[in-house]
Amino acid sequence: MRLLRCRSLINLAPLLPSQFKFHKFHPTRFFFTPNSISIPQISASSLPTNTKSTTNRSISDSARFARSVLFVPPGVEIEELTDDMVLPGSNIVIGPFADHSQIKEVEFVKSSARARDCPKDDRPEIAILGRSNVGKSSLINCLVRKKEVALTSKKPGKTQLINHFLVNKSWYIVDLPGYGFAKVSDAAKTDWSAFTKGYFLNRDTLVCVLLLIDASVPPQKIDLDCANWLGRNNVPMTFVFTKCDKMKAAKGKRPDENIKAFQQIIRENFKQHPPWILTSSVSGLGRDELLLHMSQLRNYWDQ
Ligand code: GDP
Repeated sequence: MRLLRCRSLINLAPLLPSQFKFHKFHPTRFFFTPNSISIPQISASSLPTNTKSTTNRSISDSARFARSVLFVPPGVEIEELTDDMVLPGSNIVIGPFADHSQIKEVEFVKSSARARDCPKDDRPEIAILGRSNVGKSSLINCLVRKKEVALTSKKPGKTQLINHFLVNKSWYIVDLPGYGFAKVSDAAKTDWSAFTKGYFLNRDTLVCVLLLIDASVPPQKIDLDCANWLGRNNVPMTFVFTKCDKMKAAKGKRPDENIKAFQQIIRENFKQHPPWILTSSVSGLGRDELLLHMSQLRNYWDQ
């Protein structure tokens, strides 16, 4: 029941490319202003930046468009949206379920090799997933403000396990194995997908997956495949762009360009754009905002 309620919170079913009807989209008009709402724009000069576009549309068009680009949580009417309800550096609207987001206490509970070995508990959990080297350990450390937490999952032998951390004795952060190891054999990659997919499909207490995307590199097929798979299986996800402080990429494009390119591809595949947020574990960008977003997802699930 809880699972059904939670999963209906965000309709993420990807569309097949041939079904995709969002043809009105134009990159320069992605962000618009319904009822004085401006959606954060990825700017070349700074991250994050709020920029209002001047597109004029009828309210119903605006509302429809806003619903397709903003994450509007339960309890919020789109007509009542104002700028200050949108979290900086994200498309996430904060609603009445956001509350008590700070992490006071965290304890490692267990590592599991299979979904059915995970803690038997009905407390909600938020899983963190991403390519190896995406900055997952750094983000977890940044969220909990403790270095040793994510170190646990870096210990040899624990990197391919599902690691549960109990937060404030009320919910779990779940550190999932990184995917896309360059040096891992095909057999090991298959193992990863078998047991992690089992977790996504069978874990009733899973509220949301934070899918980490490295903003310092162009969109990677493996990340897009992962997002599409989660969407197809109705697993709620939030895109967390990492390393947004790296304004000058060593090679290739800047983070803002990489993020735009990633979002463009996602818009072409998804009916509604999942929540997304910019972060940096170095500067702390997005930390408090992400915690607030996690709190509203949890509290809605847990009501
Ligand atoms: P994991 O393999 O996904 O757990 O990635 P790590 O957290 O170990 O980070 C991989 C590399 O990226 C390390 O060299 C980190 O110092 C670096 N890194 C992680 N997060 C950030 C960030 O927000 N900004 C920058 N500039 N570097 C980061």
